[in-house]
Amino acid sequence: MDMHGFHLVREESLREVGGTARLWKHAATGAEILSICNSDENKSFGVSFRTPPKDSTGVAHILEHSVLCGSDKYPVKEPFTELLKSSLQTFLNAMTYPDKTCYPVASCNLSDFYNLIDVYLDAVFHPRIDENVLRQEGWHIEPEETGKWQYKGVVYNEMKGVYSSPESVLQEQCQHAVFPDTLYSLDSGGDPAKIPGLTFEAFRAFHAAYYHPSNARFFFWGDDPEEARLARLEKELAPYAFRKVDSAVPLQPRFTAPRRADVSYAASGEGTEKSHAAVNWMLCETRDTEEMLVLDMLEHIMAGLPGSPLRKALMDSGLGEDIAGCGLERELRQAYFSMGLLSVAREDAPAMERLMLDTLAELADKGVPGQAVQAALNTLEFALRENNTGSLPRGLVAMFESLSDWLYDGDPIAPLAWEKPLASVKARLASGEKVFENAIRRWFLDNPHRVLVVASPEAGLAEARQKEEDARLETLRASMTAGERVRVEEEAALLREEQQRPDSQEALDTVPSLGREDMPEKNAVIPKALSSVSGVTVLTHELDTTGIVYARLAFRLSAVPARLLPLLVLYARSLTEMGTRRRGFVELGFDIAARTGGLGGTPTVFTRLADGAPVPLLLISSKCTRENIAGMAGLMEEILCEPNFDDRERFLQMVLEEKARMEQSAVPSGNALVRLRLGGRLSLAGRINEEMTGVSALVWLRALAERAEQDWPSVLADLNALHGCVVRGDGAVVDITGDPGLLRESEPVLADIVCRLPAGPLSAAELAFQPLPAGELLSAPAQVNYVGLGMNLRETGYVYSGAHSVVLRHLRMAYLWDRVRVQGGAYGCSAMYSRSTGSFVFVSYRDPNVRATLDVYRGAARYLAGLRLSEADITRAVVGAIGDMDHYMLPGAKGAAGFAQWLAGESDEDRQRIREEMLGASLSDFHDFAPYLERALMSAVPCVLGGASAAAVAEAEGWTKTIIL
Ligand SMILES: [Zn+2]
Repeated sequence: MDMHGFHLVREESLREVGGTARLWKHAATGAEILSICNSDENKSFGVSFRTPPKDSTGVAHILEHSVLCGSDKYPVKEPFTELLKSSLQTFLNAMTYPDKTCYPVASCNLSDFYNLIDVYLDAVFHPRIDENVLRQEGWHIEPEETGKWQYKGVVYNEMKGVYSSPESVLQEQCQHAVFPDTLYSLDSGGDPAKIPGLTFEAFRAFHAAYYHPSNARFFFWGDDPEEARLARLEKELAPYAFRKVDSAVPLQPRFTAPRRADVSYAASGEGTEKSHAAVNWMLCETRDTEEMLVLDMLEHIMAGLPGSPLRKALMDSGLGEDIAGCGLERELRQAYFSMGLLSVAREDAPAMERLMLDTLAELADKGVPGQAVQAALNTLEFALRENNTGSLPRGLVAMFESLSDWLYDGDPIAPLAWEKPLASVKARLASGEKVFENAIRRWFLDNPHRVLVVASPEAGLAEARQKEEDARLETLRASMTAGERVRVEEEAALLREEQQRPDSQEALDTVPSLGREDMPEKNAVIPKALSSVSGVTVLTHELDTTGIVYARLAFRLSAVPARLLPLLVLYARSLTEMGTRRRGFVELGFDIAARTGGLGGTPTVFTRLADGAPVPLLLISSKCTRENIAGMAGLMEEILCEPNFDDRERFLQMVLEEKARMEQSAVPSGNALVRLRLGGRLSLAGRINEEMTGVSALVWLRALAERAEQDWPSVLADLNALHGCVVRGDGAVVDITGDPGLLRESEPVLADIVCRLPAGPLSAAELAFQPLPAGELLSAPAQVNYVGLGMNLRETGYVYSGAHSVVLRHLRMAYLWDRVRVQGGAYGCSAMYSRSTGSFVFVSYRDPNVRATLDVYRGAARYLAGLRLSEADITRAVVGAIGDMDHYMLPGAKGAAGFAQWLAGESDEDRQRIREEMLGASLSDFHDFAPYLERALMSAVPCVLGGASAAAVAEAEGWTKTIIL
């Protein structure tokens, strides 16, 4: 069959995607389209190019940013941002991988979907990539006021952030070490030391070479008509003819003997840090779907649970503090497995490797226990059937899955069809084949392609790199004539000028956008039904969950004393990870994995909308299929009624793990820590949250590690005390999501658990806290900063209106974006307002500046007060805000959102009123909001996480310094 210049190569009806998959080939260019037609309203599109880099200048990554900086049909500076401002997109992004660059979009609204596709197609095929774009997105020399020169640029800065995270360094170096002979030994993201080597000619040539239809793979998914897909692409591809593009990704030849690689990361200079190490094995090609499924299950068997042998051996060894490595990496042409330890002594790395090999040998020799196989099989099968892709559209997850073969000229459909390989693995197991034991021998024990990577701290490395950079720029400057120097300065000035010049209205009007009239008038209502079952409060959400029930038990935390708040996260983990009176944690873990899609506890703070009062809860969440409802309930009851906190060694391990996790994520997610810290000053709910999961918790954990060693009885007493005041029948709520049959079956079983818990109300704890510092530096050895400023708007007499969500969105997407990201060189910046507590927090992300960013925040009210916006601009902000409100959710997430709405006391009428206020927003709302922000800014408090440059500002300003790393 032929249609619109495309020839149908293959057609397959696939239960796994709920529809039909067709592979089309464009006759003139050879471009391929994988077109999936099903009933998913969350329509997805993506175009992917094979973009193998030849060096580590980050050209692929810089180009990914740059093509989104304006194109022939859409000649604005950032069409991408304009779309973010004014679309109902459920996904809009672009990403660079070691061998490909992908441009995916998704939307539930058909005209919006095609608007996104139009802009993206023009961006990739007709970008305006001039020298200024390379300077802005890649790198340029910026003369400072002092006369000193500095490199700046969005990607340059982003990658500096990546290189200042020891875990990212370890991960990148593992990839390089496994594939030393291929392009996977290069950093497609860009090594900050190499980025300034990228010339404009090389940059443009990379686009010309790879962004061609003959090197492209197009993908469609959803309930939109297929013919329109082909018609749209036919139009786009018409000017092109076939070209042979040399972009093949070679195979890495297998090593003949294991290797070792030593690398460094920037240390704080305290001299207390240890190394991070991982052992890596190159496995099969990712196109081998059945073997990949075996490896997925084997990963679960070896390391998926706290009691899994490899994980347990590593943790029990006491050689390090937490597990390192990405596990099974399946995004490249050849898969590899990477695992090891964080904070291990450099000289212990070989012992760690030996231990891993011995553990695997024992597993292969003695055989994988049946329980472990059952747990792995159920976990994988549950995940495949649930297809819970979180906030990612299902279509895009399928696209990436498909590319695991398609990108390497293989079959795009085979990777999606998992039923057959799953049935085959099950049959092999049933026939008695030693599937996993053999895989351990083949891929791990007898596989010479193994490399131990050890990343060690190097004190002063960050400073040395900065010095090297300064010296390089100094040499460059010295080698220049006076005229050349002036040119560098002029270029920087020109770039600044261009960045500050707003797009013309005419240009902005080219970007397609929906109107207010295209917005659905009514909010999507999440079903909620409240009932009392045997005296227990039960909230249900009737939704089609394709046979899976999502269940949660919620316990009030109001009786927890302030001093025990930081213990809650660990206590919650202890319930499922320390075993019970009936059995040890290894066996419990197997049973949970064999019967459910996961079971775990999380402390969370909700807030009441009316008065901002905190509603802190412990949530015990699980999900399972119909036949396992009783089993799941039995497990919930077992962990709640018969917990066992006695195992000191196991608990100590969890403390170290938790501490290491917090330390590892402190810099990469510095914005979250800053937001939590500021939130802790602004409301009681915020403070409880900060005590449980913020810097306070990190500080507390460090002391806990010592206390658990020296005074275990006091820690045990704390755990038992927490359990006694948390797990009680009074005030507990059961929350269930599922279809009517599932709800009917699970309601009584779950309510019954609550009935069996201790009853009788406890008095609420008095929560008194030491005030947090006004003005604080969270000091860490980071090369970038996270700059925050927090204030309480409600204290200024402010009353929220839905229209202000439109104002905030504009503030974020226009004001902050232009000044903090585009001009300041930060990776991002947010402004978040909490309707319930009135707290308002600005935070930047991977920011080279401190003062300049704070000044931008402080100027926000003045900007709004004097703002002139066209009707079209306001409408864009309205559409974007509605898009946020209507963000796409899978059924399980919908149930969780419904529960949060109920706890907050937010009615459907409230939400409808807010929607109407949003839809009616006008310029006067922007002006009305300004004076409140102005007043709040006068008492705003800064908090900055960062390294040396932030420390200098903190000292000058007299902020309190809190060392977090
Ligand atoms: Zn990037």
